[in-house]
Amino acid sequence: MISNSSIARIMPPARKNVCDCGVLENASKEPDHAIRWDERSNEYYIAYGKNGQDGRMAVYYCPFCGGRTPKSRSPSLFAHVTKQEEWRITELFRGIRIVADVIARFGPPDEERENAVLIRRPSREGKPERGEVFRVLVYKNLSAVANVEFQVGDSDSVRGTWSQKYIGDHAG
Ligand SMILES: [Zn+2]
Repeated sequence: MISNSSIARIMPPARKNVCDCGVLENASKEPDHAIRWDERSNEYYIAYGKNGQDGRMAVYYCPFCGGRTPKSRSPSLFAHVTKQEEWRITELFRGIRIVADVIARFGPPDEERENAVLIRRPSREGKPERGEVFRVLVYKNLSAVANVEFQVGDSDSVRGTWSQKYIGDHAG
């Protein structure tokens, strides 16, 4: 069983007139979070009591950036990855070291991209600038909300990453 408790330690963002720090927005997309969004009244509220069903308290100012809460929750182009889903995906990566581990666990990838990730490391402290290029194995069906991508490095070693699925500009 994965612990669901987490302590949010966030560096306080700069104070805003209208909240755009994203903390309320992200919190409200987590299932069972005390901070929620009401579609009808277009406002954030704090739910309290057992299962958050005893009452609600509207939130007019963001407790994190001090800005007025926005009149609408901006639609996201990408699917929300909840903390729980993030943990689930992280667990999928357990014990995976090389390409053969990936194929053994998940089968052939949905897509294989050559030179998909290019990282350029700037010169620092007298060391030359350098670049790294990774082949990437893409799995689209391991999560409903994220694509899972394995970057392939030296000796077929892999690095597991995920990225939100694109859902277009129509979704809320
Ligand atoms: Zn804010």
